[in-house]
Amino acid sequence: QLIRLATIYPVEFIVRNIATGSLTKRLGIADGTVLSKPLIEYSYKNDDLGDPLVAREHVLEFNWVPDAAHLDLINDYCLRINDFMQGMFRGVGIKLVDFKLEFGKSYVDKQILLADEISPDTCRLWDVSSEKKLDKDRFRKDLGNIMQAYQEVARRLGIIHEESNISEVKFGKPRAVDFKKK
Ligand code: UDP
Repeated sequence: QLIRLATIYPVEFIVRNIATGSLTKRLGIADGTVLSKPLIEYSYKNDDLGDPLVAREHVLEFNWVPDAAHLDLINDYCLRINDFMQGMFRGVGIKLVDFKLEFGKSYVDKQILLADEISPDTCRLWDVSSEKKLDKDRFRKDLGNIMQAYQEVARRLGIIHEESNISEVKFGKPRAVDFKKK
């Protein structure tokens, strides 16, 4: 992790290469449709409102990002990051379907920073040949084997030690605690 103090813009930048998830539900697009070019969407970061999808005009009108030049720069970063990550994942047999990024202003030098984790929790990753999901959708859709899928991504990228001894924690059924009366 690289840690720098930053003020986060309250916008989630979603980059999509293949239609799935909320895009297909919202617009009735067939799941798995390959987009002709990467699609960038904006969500306003507000849990109470359920992070609603917003237009570029909302982002600018409500000053969630300082101005249009900043927003254009962030869009360019999103596309560049997408190019880089798509190539990286393709090289290890994984399709980068979509992902979410957040950006902020560095406290020290006021530069725009990519300020987010990038992991199978924030990306949709499908195996190239089997289309097996190797991301958080295994949890969302209750598909099981989430640890194995995340480890598979790390193993293919060469960032996990082969002998690594990580295993799923099994939680038992929660039980009420009996307090004995004195
Ligand atoms: N995403 C995320 N955090 C969020 C919302 C979306 O990491 O708060 C990621 C999600 O994992 C997926 C992409 O952004 O890789 C697009 O998500 P979508 O809007 O389709 O989300 P859904 O509503 O289908 O979960």
